[in-house]
Amino acid sequence: MAKKIKLGTILPNDTFFYSISFDQPCQKVTREALKTHFPEPRGYRAYMGIHTEYKGFTNGLVVVQVKLPESTEHMLYLHVGLAELDIACTCGMPDGKLCRHAYMGLHSMAWHQYLDLERFYWPGFTNDEKIKVKFLDTEVSKGWIAVKPKAKYGNIFKSTIGFVGDKQLSIRERSKLQNIISGGQEVIGYCLAYNIGNYGNSLLPALVPCLGLTSKNNKNIVSFKQFGRADKPIHNINYTANQQLLNDIGYKQYGIAKTYDNLGGEEKRNEGAKLKQQVLNLWEQAIPLLLNEKYNYIYYLYWLKYLKDKPRKTEMQNCRYSLDRPVLSFTLKFHQDHFSLTAVVFVDGNPLKFNHKPHLFVFDEVTELCYLMPSVQDDDLLIWIFSHNNRLTILKEHFIEFHQSLLENLSRSYEVFYDNKAGKKIKYELKTVLFDSGIKNIFG
Ligand SMILES: [Zn+2]
Repeated sequence: MAKKIKLGTILPNDTFFYSISFDQPCQKVTREALKTHFPEPRGYRAYMGIHTEYKGFTNGLVVVQVKLPESTEHMLYLHVGLAELDIACTCGMPDGKLCRHAYMGLHSMAWHQYLDLERFYWPGFTNDEKIKVKFLDTEVSKGWIAVKPKAKYGNIFKSTIGFVGDKQLSIRERSKLQNIISGGQEVIGYCLAYNIGNYGNSLLPALVPCLGLTSKNNKNIVSFKQFGRADKPIHNINYTANQQLLNDIGYKQYGIAKTYDNLGGEEKRNEGAKLKQQVLNLWEQAIPLLLNEKYNYIYYLYWLKYLKDKPRKTEMQNCRYSLDRPVLSFTLKFHQDHFSLTAVVFVDGNPLKFNHKPHLFVFDEVTELCYLMPSVQDDDLLIWIFSHNNRLTILKEHFIEFHQSLLENLSRSYEVFYDNKAGKKIKYELKTVLFDSGIKNIFG
């Protein structure tokens, strides 16, 4: 068992080291194992009055001072190898046997029934003080020596042992990289398909699901593959519950829009409002659901039949919906010989800005939000005024007739403002306007 080791250390080269094999796989020496190396002293008294003190950890050697009651103090030098502990004592261990100082000292140090020496095993680090000091922090106290990697080096690899904690890891081959963001994914986008035409031939806007391929970061769709319709749904997609609801709404709207599109001019005037109301109701259900969707677009559609074709990327525009409903109001203005009436749509007191008016929606250029109009009547009024440059013109001499035929009625249901001569906006009242514009009040 006894063997000599050459460490190039503080000890003479011919220092004798006694070896104790570890109980594998840990670098531990138990009190039980110690007893196999030394004739066990009788009685607990034999172990009393033993004093050990850690002195240092240099050149790969742990230095421990041992003082037994009956003898002078001795120094133990411990070298921790992979599979064994080598011990030298200043007594020289006559006859190559484990001396009493070493036995009693180790027994005393093993106060939890074993001596854990793993922290002293740093192959490649501890034999060279410069390397040890660079990578490791050593704290020596009487009862303990702590040896650990300097914080900046984190977890240091020990040859044949590995890293702290690596045994608990299990790194299995991943079958699918689902959590990694990778673009080019097939996703469902939702298109608000609309057009702008004369009142008679413009389409009722319908929600249309659309299969697309995402960009590298998945932020938007870069290529649109196919529209989804009831008679030709998009397959091989795991729809969310939200998407299933939206698909149903979209299919219904498409059906209604198709019916509406096939009506003749006369029928449209009679039946159209009813169909438009149905589409509006469906949009009211759809918008809260669309707020949960990532890929929303508005799609300019010349003819409804074009939904059978591949979506055209150039007609797609990003779209964000608002739950706010615009408020329709009117402004009357006097221009010396005539009056003008224009429509203004507000959200939270801010006028929306737009140049085109499709059915049911206002696409605000300032906020870039899509607003659903509150009612078919509001929408029809707005479209009617907007279809003529958002302006009604009335000669001064026709004003009273205009009031009687339209404005009086309008001002009962909507806010109508009068932009007076002084440039102040006030609530419309016939008397005020007549006085302000100098029209002779025939009503007295
Ligand atoms: Zn000794």
